[in-house]
Amino acid sequence: MSDITSPFGGITIDFGPAGDALAVPLAATAAEGPHETNVLILGSGPAGLTAAIYAARADLAPIVLGGHQPGGQLTITTEVENYPGFPDGIEGPELMARFRAQAERFGARVIDVEVERVDFSSRPFRAWAAGVEYRAQAVIVATGASALWLGLESETRLRGHGVSACATCDGFFFRDKAVAVVGGGDTALEEALYLTRFASKVHLLHRRAEFRASRIMQARAESHPGIEIHRGVVVDEVLGEESVTGVRLRDVATGATTDLPVEGFFLAIGHRPNTAPFESWLAKDEKGYLVVEHETCSRIEGVFIAGDVHDHRYRQAVTAAGDGCRAAIDAERWLQDHVPAKAAAAATGT
Ligand code: NAP
Repeated sequence: MSDITSPFGGITIDFGPAGDALAVPLAATAAEGPHETNVLILGSGPAGLTAAIYAARADLAPIVLGGHQPGGQLTITTEVENYPGFPDGIEGPELMARFRAQAERFGARVIDVEVERVDFSSRPFRAWAAGVEYRAQAVIVATGASALWLGLESETRLRGHGVSACATCDGFFFRDKAVAVVGGGDTALEEALYLTRFASKVHLLHRRAEFRASRIMQARAESHPGIEIHRGVVVDEVLGEESVTGVRLRDVATGATTDLPVEGFFLAIGHRPNTAPFESWLAKDEKGYLVVEHETCSRIEGVFIAGDVHDHRYRQAVTAAGDGCRAAIDAERWLQDHVPAKAAAAATGT
């Protein structure tokens, strides 16, 4: 099984709980180039990179701090079939590489570092990442969301030894083996379908009878001969000492437990928004997502919000991209109205 700290040739992905971020091998460094800009974009998923394309084309010389998962969640997705313009589908990592190339083509500077803290008390706003201070007249927060875990001790202990939150990264290692996927949303069904390419059997474990996933995905999973669906069950424990040998299931209705032999256990139970650096600055809703006051504006003038870090309803690549576009246009207009041309020129070094 792959080391999940670097499943994409050097790009590090943090699948862990808050505070469990893994070291980031950097594709780009912050050593060269200016650290001051008109628009600082935090996050490099569809929202961040679309904002970068628009801001760069508006001559705002944006800097993008790419985050702990450069390219965002689509880099751990398989086939993307619903992004308009790709009638035959496209692999998630390739789609994001194209977003990035398009942003860089117009002069956006994308740096693969994760923002650690910010100071939004006055302008220029400030942000720190990998020991470097960045300054900007406007900020677009597009830090997205990260995968959730069940929180079992056995799950944490066996992470990287049969437990994974990324079928795309690790599915290959389960050729001709039985695996389980937990969850009832689109992600779980997508992962289960993907795993049928390798696994001898895919057990889909869902705690309720009804799925949250779209009808088309349900129909595909239900009719797939390689998938066995277990409804109304929860996972009490991941079994195994050195590596996964099974999962202990509990029937929600009867309380009866059974051990299901599998060698791979994949989590697909949703996400948490990446809001830690903004705790004392931006408002959050009851689910912990950032609150947008109107359009893409946060409660701080000059700080804009886009994508999954605030959106727990749609969470699609195309809606995040649309959000990034809106945020860049809002930032551009706000800069025009609020930042003297001299300061804007100084920020881009022109
Ligand atoms: P989701 O829709 O929030 O579904 C999470 C699933 O995990 C739910 O079925 C939930 O069960 C289950 N779950 C949550 N916590 C659990 C726990 N502690 N134990 C057991 N089960 C647990 O998340 P998602 O599937 O990641 O999808 C997120 C969004 O992305 C959705 O809007 C989805 O449509 C979208 N998406 C789209 C595509 C696509 O269109 N190609 C692909 C992937 C995702 P309950 O149902 O009982 O709450």
